[in-house]
Amino acid sequence: MQRTLSIIKPDGVKKKLIGAVIAVFEEAGVRVAAMKMKKLSREEAEGFYYVHKQQPFFPELVEFMISGPVVLMALEGDDVIVRNRELMGATDPAKAAPGTIRARWADSKQNNIVHGSDSVESARFEIGYFFAEIEIC
Ligand code: GDP
Repeated sequence: MQRTLSIIKPDGVKKKLIGAVIAVFEEAGVRVAAMKMKKLSREEAEGFYYVHKQQPFFPELVEFMISGPVVLMALEGDDVIVRNRELMGATDPAKAAPGTIRARWADSKQNNIVHGSDSVESARFEIGYFFAEIEIC
């Protein structure tokens, strides 16, 4: 059993896709183990995406992530890190497989509806960044 961090980004919340995205996870047999809605501070967004600090798109990415509330979730299931990435689709919606969350609803490489941890190490860091162990059911 594995855990991963999922974020419904500000574009997904603005498009009223919270329910639709969670339905994708639940219909795939993935369990929501923790969830909260939050407007990230600049410091929280910068710290979360610290691995991208040197990227030219970093300032724009941070602005996007603080442009409205997000929904933070810890997802649980067998091989859920890879399975969640499959459900999300490629970063660039133009390259995302048909039927994936990003292919269905994302507008651009940046405004791509969801985040999902990409490794066991990042999942551990990212879940711990937003959730105390006691908040995970
Ligand atoms: P992910 O793991 O599929 O989310 O992709 P990455 O870890 O490579 O990038 C993190 C996030 O940065 C993406 O989900 C996008 O929101 C954003 N991003 C990635 N590449 C670009 C880019 O070329 N331009 C902009 N503006 N944002 C990007």
